[in-house]
Amino acid sequence: MNRLMVVGIGPGNTANMTEACRHAILSADAIFGYRAYIALLKPWFPHKNFFETGMKSEVARCRAALSLAAEGKAVSLVSSGDAGIYGMASLVYELSPEFPSVTIEVVPGITAAISGAALLGSPVGHDFAVISLSDLLTSWDLIEKRLRAVAAGDLVICIYNPASHGRPDHLRRSCDILLEILPPNRVCGLVRNIGRSEEGYAITTLGALRTIPVDMLTTVFIGNTKTRVINGKMITPRGYGNA
Ligand code: SAH
Repeated sequence: MNRLMVVGIGPGNTANMTEACRHAILSADAIFGYRAYIALLKPWFPHKNFFETGMKSEVARCRAALSLAAEGKAVSLVSSGDAGIYGMASLVYELSPEFPSVTIEVVPGITAAISGAALLGSPVGHDFAVISLSDLLTSWDLIEKRLRAVAAGDLVICIYNPASHGRPDHLRRSCDILLEILPPNRVCGLVRNIGRSEEGYAITTLGALRTIPVDMLTTVFIGNTKTRVINGKMITPRGYGNA
């Protein structure tokens, strides 16, 4: 069978990699992925055959993985976190009609919203939304519209891609939009380098968040009206306790 596994590897440590992910890598003849993720995986799977590509070559990477699978090789294509969340899974399916002989299987991984939430405490204990501030594939107008909509709906918000080299001020601009609706003392959290050596988190307020520097390996959490700080952790109650 010609099979391509689209695999989420989790935040970047082996402890948070699933058994199914490990199996998909160990059983593959070839593993495709973005350079930074391959660099993480190589030391853990030194005998495997990796193909790394740069950013912005996603379509070529997916086509190369699908073509090799069509030749009968066992191929895995890796994304960080979950492959279905700002990862390669949807693109692979979009390209799949060109490769009718290939069966695709998605292997779920722990996404940054979930691994980051565990570090912060329990910030997504109720309804939440995930928004990426990357405007490479989505217009900034639409990102602003979605920010306003989730703020109006009192959802906890997890923000991915809060900054990159070309767009250092996206988080500040987003905070300013949210501050049109939300109060400056709204509880917020940041997690950096989840699962990596410089892992860390911080709890702050929406008013202060607008000036905090963030990078590509930061995920940001904006609380809802009920979110508070308990024992130094960011907690969004479900509503059980009267504590
Ligand atoms: N598929 C990935 C998300 C890719 S988008 C997932 O499911 O997690 C890239 C964004 O994810 C980053 O800008 C950051 O906001 C978040 N992210 C990914 N890995 C992270 C990590 N190890 N630590 C903190 N944030 C991370």
